[in-house]
Amino acid sequence: MKRRILLYTILCCLILVVGFATAEIPKPEKVLGFKIGTDKKVADMHQIVDYFQRLDTASGRVVVREIGKTTLGNPFIVAIVTSEENQQNLETYRQYQQLLADPRKISEKKADEIISKGKAVVMINCSIHATEIGASQMSMQLAHDLAAKNDEDTRRILDNVILLLVPMHNPDGIQMVVDWYKKHLESEWEGSRMPWLYHKYVGHDNNRDWYMFTQIETRLTIQVHNRWHPQVVLDMHQMGNTGARLFVPPYVDPYEPNVDPILTQQVAAMGSFIASELTSQGKGGVMHSTIFDAWTPARAYHHYHGGIRILTEAASVKIATPVTIPFDGLQDEVKTRSVKMPLPWKGGRWTLKDIVDYDYSAARAVLTHAAGLRKNWLRSFYKIHKKAVERSEPPYAFLVAANQKNTPSAVSMLSILQMGGVEVYRADAAFQADGRSYPQGTTIVYTAQPYGGFAKALLEKQVYPEIRETPGGPLKTPYDVVAHTLPLLMGVDVVQIDEPFKVQTTLLKEIKKPAGTLSKIDDASCYAWGHATNDDIIALNRLIAKGHSISWTAEAVDIDGRTIPPGTMIVSQKPGLFQDMEAIIGDLYVQFEALTNPPDASAYKLKPVRLGLYKSWTASMDEGWTRWVLEQHEFPYESVFDKDIREGHLNDRYDVILFPDIRESQIIQGLSEKEVPPEYAGGIGEAGIEEIRTFVQNGGTLITLNSSSEFPIKHLYLTVENCAADLDRMAFFIPGSILRVINDPGHPIAYGYDRISEIFFRRSPVFSASEGTSVVRYPTHEPLLSGWANGDNHLFNKSAIVDVPYGQGKIILIGFPAQYRAQSQGSFRYVFNAIFYGAAVFIDGHQ
Ligand SMILES: [Zn+2]
Repeated sequence: MKRRILLYTILCCLILVVGFATAEIPKPEKVLGFKIGTDKKVADMHQIVDYFQRLDTASGRVVVREIGKTTLGNPFIVAIVTSEENQQNLETYRQYQQLLADPRKISEKKADEIISKGKAVVMINCSIHATEIGASQMSMQLAHDLAAKNDEDTRRILDNVILLLVPMHNPDGIQMVVDWYKKHLESEWEGSRMPWLYHKYVGHDNNRDWYMFTQIETRLTIQVHNRWHPQVVLDMHQMGNTGARLFVPPYVDPYEPNVDPILTQQVAAMGSFIASELTSQGKGGVMHSTIFDAWTPARAYHHYHGGIRILTEAASVKIATPVTIPFDGLQDEVKTRSVKMPLPWKGGRWTLKDIVDYDYSAARAVLTHAAGLRKNWLRSFYKIHKKAVERSEPPYAFLVAANQKNTPSAVSMLSILQMGGVEVYRADAAFQADGRSYPQGTTIVYTAQPYGGFAKALLEKQVYPEIRETPGGPLKTPYDVVAHTLPLLMGVDVVQIDEPFKVQTTLLKEIKKPAGTLSKIDDASCYAWGHATNDDIIALNRLIAKGHSISWTAEAVDIDGRTIPPGTMIVSQKPGLFQDMEAIIGDLYVQFEALTNPPDASAYKLKPVRLGLYKSWTASMDEGWTRWVLEQHEFPYESVFDKDIREGHLNDRYDVILFPDIRESQIIQGLSEKEVPPEYAGGIGEAGIEEIRTFVQNGGTLITLNSSSEFPIKHLYLTVENCAADLDRMAFFIPGSILRVINDPGHPIAYGYDRISEIFFRRSPVFSASEGTSVVRYPTHEPLLSGWANGDNHLFNKSAIVDVPYGQGKIILIGFPAQYRAQSQGSFRYVFNAIFYGAAVFIDGHQ
């Protein structure tokens, strides 16, 4: 009996051991019910998360972590994939990465030791653009194979590489896109575009956020990046379907000059290796050295943190519905064999399976390269940082004065740098630099530090190189915008220092916003505060929401022994006000000052604004960014759809209607019924134009941003001309640059601005107005501050913001993207001011 029990126990143990050793790694098709890449089948966010959790349970090689929640509260997961042995020592390898990233902390000898023992770290970021869904599907197959297979190549990858796999950078979007796709399967709109953004706020622009870090998903990914410092980041996208089947680097010129040349070469090496692997597998149409450049840090955090960014762009299908592209339908560039693409694709059927296969091969190639040349990757990584910390050429530092006109933006700018790993110091004593004296407390950002290149790229002015399509021909269109100078975007005073200098400093752990102030006197009749920061505007919104009575002084006025400028905000005394202001200075840098008497001056009396934000079914990113910016600054608003405008009675619902940067034709016509189901088709149409005209005639305010200004100019017959409308690229071309403008500080839209300030200019109109007031103008010379401007003479003395009276209302044309990608913080207040001004009542103090 006892022997039987013993035998039974041994048998059970054996089953357990064998069972564990061969624990079934779930195949994607078993869990999903279809093979990855099957036509018209696509896994949604829940299925992908579920699959990865199963892998985590089944495999010692895969650890899945939920590192936070997305914008819509969904799980954001990262899978760490490596050998079981490496998983046991993960923290050690992470420490190695930290040390190689900061050579000041280790000797050369120690570095050699780490390089021989460490692992290459690769991050794969899938489907940041949710409609480019192939990579998110592929990620499950890749993780499965790494968990399940034991061939020599897989083992080498697992032993030498730690893979950080982000199966979905935008899980919210994956879910939206799959829901939309499934809803319209087998209908006329199968594979159609979704008429809203696939991210709550920013849609496709979610990969333009890698230096401002505004969105949750960006911040979560940056956290992983900063913990692990990957040597390679593979960023997997899709593009249109008549060009190459897969784009891989090298990129085309220009590279942003702060990217280390080692990385430029490594990008080329890795891209070429992917191309050679796919070509040897017979996968045609892989192309490099085309379209994509490496200029803006908004898409390439990694290039400033010791890692390469490998962008892949596969040709798209209609989500999971195959397409057929005959050879004749392909772009000329991809029809013939060339050094950029030695194996052309023959045309024909192209499916989700093809995308998954190409993506899979690209991901395996990256892992193979990183594993095979592990030591080279680690050594180069170390050298990049060694060069960075030993930098000894100008500029040596950037100084940020403690005393700023816009303190909240200065704090925000320094916090961004810190989030990007930049060390920020405070001077413990007064010092001299470049022949000038700076006080104790000045903030210093040295360029000689591990991520000094990141700081330098964001703090200096960009000089975009002049690259022409042909000698003497037009400028080659940059892939993206060309300026990213934070001090100019945010309105912060920063000084560049070009000579070495010495001062005792303290490293700042955290940049804290100083507390606001609130003065107290017994017989205060009102309180005044400034107009120069976004915090001032948030304070205004909070006080208005609490029902306080607020006005803007409309002229300079002497009060309590000093002069306050026009635009000073005044709130009347009332029970509860003091507590409300006390609450505000808890988190905002606002300086409330008690006044004995109210200012004896003309003023704009403000009221709660019933704000409508136009929302088109064309899924405008700019609309999303505008919503984001309004919400961050606590503006109440309602979205206004085409149908609402067509139905009219707009004055009953709104005081101000704001049109984001949407082209006039899209506003009027929207999308066609061929593109989207009928409920989303059509724009505001002729009926909508009439209703907008009635709204303004009856006293409403229309505000248009950037290209949408064309709509009132054309359809409401303003005598304002867009002088740039007919200029071609040879004559006038400013592809996303920062320009100098001249404000009329006496006009409410420019309240809080100095005479000279900065704006971002991109595909913008240039106004010549024969009616209304030019609130903001371009100077008569040298408008360019950062980036590139061809034909800037077309700007000279022209208007950038025009305020046009119209019936009982007004039309405010803001001829530039004042809220651009939430990056141009310094010019947000033009929009904010226009909103309040739109509903304000002028009180003449001299009657
Ligand atoms: Zn993309």
